[in-house]
Order: sequence, then structure tokens, then C-alpha cells
Amino acid sequence: MTTKAAKLQLDELRSKFIHDCQEYLDKADMDRILKAKSVAKIAHGDKKRYSGEPYYIHPLSVAKKLCQLKLDRNTIIAGLLHDSLEDTDLKRDGIKREFGNDVLSLVEGVTKLSQIRIKKSWFPFSRVKTEEIPELERQLETLRKMLVAMSKDVRVVLIKLADRMHNLETLKYLSEPKRERFAREALEIFAPIAERLGMGELNGQMNDLAFSYLYPEDFKKLKEKYEPRIKYQEKIVKNLAEKVRRILKQNHLEAEVNYRIKHWYSLFKKLKRYEGDDSKIYDLVALRIIVKTEGNCYKALGLIHKEWKPLIGRIRDFIAFPKPNGYRSIHTTVIADKGAIVEFQIRTDEMHHQAEFGIAAHWIYKNGDKHPIVSKDRLNWVKEFTNMQKGMDKEELARSFDLDLFQDRIFVFTPDGDVKDMPMDSTPVDFAYYVHTWLGDHCTGAKINGKIAPLSTLLKNGDIVEILNSKSAKPRADWLKFVKTHVARSHIRREMRTSSEGFIGKISRIGKIGRRLKK
Ligand code: MN
Repeated sequence: MTTKAAKLQLDELRSKFIHDCQEYLDKADMDRILKAKSVAKIAHGDKKRYSGEPYYIHPLSVAKKLCQLKLDRNTIIAGLLHDSLEDTDLKRDGIKREFGNDVLSLVEGVTKLSQIRIKKSWFPFSRVKTEEIPELERQLETLRKMLVAMSKDVRVVLIKLADRMHNLETLKYLSEPKRERFAREALEIFAPIAERLGMGELNGQMNDLAFSYLYPEDFKKLKEKYEPRIKYQEKIVKNLAEKVRRILKQNHLEAEVNYRIKHWYSLFKKLKRYEGDDSKIYDLVALRIIVKTEGNCYKALGLIHKEWKPLIGRIRDFIAFPKPNGYRSIHTTVIADKGAIVEFQIRTDEMHHQAEFGIAAHWIYKNGDKHPIVSKDRLNWVKEFTNMQKGMDKEELARSFDLDLFQDRIFVFTPDGDVKDMPMDSTPVDFAYYVHTWLGDHCTGAKINGKIAPLSTLLKNGDIVEILNSKSAKPRADWLKFVKTHVARSHIRREMRTSSEGFIGKISRIGKIGRRLKK
């Protein structure tokens, strides 16, 4: 890239960034941000990226992504400075003096995320460079760090996600060994985390970029096969949208009607799940209705079903039963005109925002509050998950991430209405262990939706599960044949192993947990 072209690009980026910030931040915030912008520029100086592009483009782009998520001032400042502790002469004290403790702790948080040090016990030969650390160990450590950061201050994770997203968009500007690693980590760690945080848009974009880089052949085949179908379906949906607009208008329902095209990687995964059978994939292009109130979602649903027959078993009310990551919408698939099958997604503006931006959307709906904090409940699962993993070794951890964190999820209720977010095909035993280890170890039976059911029953979305238990009950070896989660499996094994450990030790251990439970 010529110096002149680079300068033009930089100018454009800067003015867009400032413009986006001004849309929702006041003068005082803008002054701080502009100051951070020049500090970052000076700090990175003449340093260039692999391509010869000025390095400063990177932090500026990251900050721009953060302001598009409409995050608070300090997060944007930290985005501008996120690489400065590691790569420049800027010091902790300097950041603290100029921008305060909050910014410093965000920048340090992001810096720590990229310094992956592997547990000694995992890797006895110590002292290895990042590139030489075996894949599994590095990924585990990255994941673990992301979860810890998330439970402390989720903004650190948002900065890291924006950082990785920009790196993916500019993969060609990175060095060769970094390219594949970054793409793989995006697909296996960062995008799933964005998904769990409900950030649908970021998750989709990140997956598609990484997928096209890592599996170019699969990507090409998928595109060749489905692009024509998508074009065809798009035409149908566009026409249908016209008619839907008319119907809603006649019924005085204010709404925005548009459509979305399924992300490539999401299609790829779905096809894998269906073993290549695409006859039941109806959402290549889905029609979207965005209304003002929750009540109007149901009104719109009624009008749609009055006009076209829905397919049985395809109506999903994620408003009454939000997904664990916060996603809300009503989905229904109808037989539209001329037999075309079309999926509808109905939601309010706010639900739409939430679906695209996830946890970041929480900052937007709190006007006037400059440092809103995300409700702790939203991230309860992070804490539960890290607690469950305590004491696991490397292999167990890997399996646990795989089985318990990144599988497709269902959500199941306790009789009190608490939601547990579980991997698909979990059983009541898995559920019991998710509620509490003690309950798992002492469960004797289960009621699903009020009816006694075998402990091996596969739970379904929305089931209400009551665990029957008795103090004298113990885990049974045959549970190992059907439990799904690694957490349940490892507890059952451990309990089997220690059941010979002696009467007294056991009583006191259970007594302690029992007491804790009662509190
Ligand atoms: Mn960076």
C-alpha cells in the first residue's frame, strides 16, 4: 500500500470513528476519547503491520467496533490503548494518571488475555513460545482466561472480541504463523463465546471469516451448491414481505419487515447435524417482522397464521422461553403462497437489538448512566461453570469445555423456575449435578413436568425437572452409560473411586456440603 493510500484510509477511518462516537457520547467523553486517540497514535509511532500498513490503524479499528456496539467511554479508550502496554513504551502509571484506574484495569485485562502461560504441570518442559505450545493446551488456557475475565469484567472480553474480529478481517496483514492460529481460535473459542454472550452478529461474521480461511474447499462447495437456492428463496421472501407489510398495515400494526440470509458456517453446521439432508432446512432466507411491543409480536403471529398454515412443531416461542444467551423472538414456519415454505422471525426493536449485540446491548438501554454494570445474573453461568471445573485435570477440562460449554444447548427449569442451561440430550442425572453436586450424588429419581420419569430420559427444552433424593443414596455405575455432561461423569467416577474411603470421612464431607446447602 502506498503511503498516500494508507493516509487516506486512515483519515476516513478516523472521521467515521469520531462520527460514530459523537452519535451517543457527550463533549466531555469525546475529549477524553480524542486524547486517548492521540496517545495511542504517538505510542505506536511508525510501527507497521506485516503489510506495511501503519499499526495505529488496528487499535483505531478496534475502538470503532466498540463504539458501534455503543459501549461506554472507558471501554472505547481501552480499545484504543489495548496493545500499548505490550507493544509500546507506554507504562501502567501513565495510563492510570491520564485515564484512571478503570481504563488501566481494562487494558491490563486485555493484555493478560494474550499472555498465555501454561500450567507447569501441563507442560513440564516449560519456556516455550506461544507458537510452540501445543494446540490443546493453548486453547484450554485461552478459554479459561476468557471465562475468568468474563466473570470479573465482561468489557475486557468485548475488547478482545473486537480485537480478534479486526485481526480476522485483515488476516493478510498478519504473519503466516499467526493466520491459522487466529482463524482457528476464532472458530473454536472466540465465536462460541460471542454466541454465549448473545452477540449474534459478531458470532456470525467471525465464524464465516474463519471458516472460509480454514476450510476453503468446504466453503467453496457450500457456496456453489447453496448460492442459487438462496437467490431463488430471496425472491420468494421479497415478494412475501410486500404482502406481509400490506396485511400488517390493514390491521394497523406498525412494523418493519425485512429478511436475513443464513450465515455460511451456521448452514454448514446444520447440514452436518442433519447428515447432509437439506430437505428440512427452511431458514436459508428468513422473513423478519420487527414490531413495537411484545403484545404486537403475538398479534403479528396471529395474523400470519390466519393467512398461511404453519408447519406443526415448528412454532417456537423464545419470548416466553428465552434462550440461555438471552435471545428472544417468535419463530414459525408457514406454507406460503404456491407452496413455498418460509420461516418467520417476529420480535420487538429491543429484542432485535439484543439478538444482534447481546450483552453489549445492555449499555444502550440505560440512558444517562455512564458506567452501567451488566446484571450479574446474566453471567451466572460463567461462575457456575468455572466452579464445576475446579480440580479437573487437562484432559477432563478439554472434555468439559467440549461437552458442557460448546454443545448445542437446551434450557431446563427447576420447580422454582430457575433456568439451567444444559447441553442437548442431557438427562435428569446431568441436571441434578448442574443444580448441585450433592443433589447429583444423592438423586433417586426424577419428575419431569410433574410425572415420574426414568433417570435416563433425554430432557427437552422447557422441561421442568424435580429431582427426588435421599441422604443415603449413592451414584450408580450404570448412570455412566447415559449421562451426557462431563461434569456428571467425573463426579460419578470420583464418587465410585472414593466410596471405599471410609465411613467417617464420608459422613463429614457430606455433612459439610449439606450444611452449606441449607444456608
Ligand atoms: Mn490487538
